[in-house]
Amino acid sequence: MVDKGYLVELGEGVSQGGRKPRLLRINNQLGYIAGIDIGATSLDIALADVTGSILQRCSEATDVHFSPDTVLGRCSELLLELIQAQGATSDQILGIGIGVPGPVDFARGVLVAPPLMPGWEHFPIQDFFKKTFISAFVVVDNDVNIMALGEQRAGDGAGIDHFIFVKIGTGIGAGIISNGKIHRGSDGSAGDIGHICVDKDGPLCSCGNRGCLEAMAAGPAIISKAMDAVRNGISPTLSQMRESNGGVIRPEDVNSACREGDQAALDIIRDSGQMIGDVLASLVNFFNPSHIFIGGGIANFGNHLLVAIRRAVLHRSLPLATTHLSIKFSRIGSNAGVMGAISLALDYLFAIEDNPHFIV
Ligand SMILES: [Zn+2]
Repeated sequence: MVDKGYLVELGEGVSQGGRKPRLLRINNQLGYIAGIDIGATSLDIALADVTGSILQRCSEATDVHFSPDTVLGRCSELLLELIQAQGATSDQILGIGIGVPGPVDFARGVLVAPPLMPGWEHFPIQDFFKKTFISAFVVVDNDVNIMALGEQRAGDGAGIDHFIFVKIGTGIGAGIISNGKIHRGSDGSAGDIGHICVDKDGPLCSCGNRGCLEAMAAGPAIISKAMDAVRNGISPTLSQMRESNGGVIRPEDVNSACREGDQAALDIIRDSGQMIGDVLASLVNFFNPSHIFIGGGIANFGNHLLVAIRRAVLHRSLPLATTHLSIKFSRIGSNAGVMGAISLALDYLFAIEDNPHFIV
């Protein structure tokens, strides 16, 4: 492997009797790995070497209501820019890990009935990237699964056997690490907690049912409640923000209004936290994790949200399940997705026995 350039020698190790050991590491000049995290409203792309160290990264806004050709085409362009900035070429990309915000049939690498992005159903994402990155092995997973993998690789989830990563953004989902491994379930849909019913008479969800957690507590629900508060005249701060934004309220406005002491905004955030906490309490009783990490755009909402989630979980879960339970925000934030995507690509790159790049 040294002769073929897969490993490089760092020198001699300390002998413990017998022949002197040689210290080796993977040759980080072998090629590159890309991690792509596609959210409902944002793209994060990172280029790493084959040891997983990030060399370049970029982010920009997107909208998954656009066609997969448009969004994935933009991902390809951005990745090519990162590769060029590194002085490399597209055929030096050996692996690409991609997270997408919907249910993924992991074995086939396709989205199945994705509520947020119906136009992406069964789109061949792997083939799309293989056209440009001909040497790359491409792995597609759910966006929250890759965040859980990122937390495990580079965050506080390192070394923890049983934890849940919850993403709260335009949608709500959970990535489950069980016995140190990601749990995708038999078809890949494990952790899709956004469509657990909270109120049978609640608002219509993008999945077609009523009162799902996502429809009641995620970003769009927060905006809708904020608009109601403005219409009902109970939030002067949000009214002002709406006027200065040209008639629009964004989730971050609700957070800012809350920080400025607006009671209606505080109530909206607490309500979301409580509903998310109630669902998490059931998961805690069912799965008994030692940690819950919270990430995603709405997670930037800070302590009011976290306190409401914690209170609901502690109130509704069994004491044995919560005695040692830690619930906190992910400290690696927006890096969790790309780190996990890179980690996933690396796992598969080195695991494939007939991978043409690694035949020894
Ligand atoms: Zn739903």
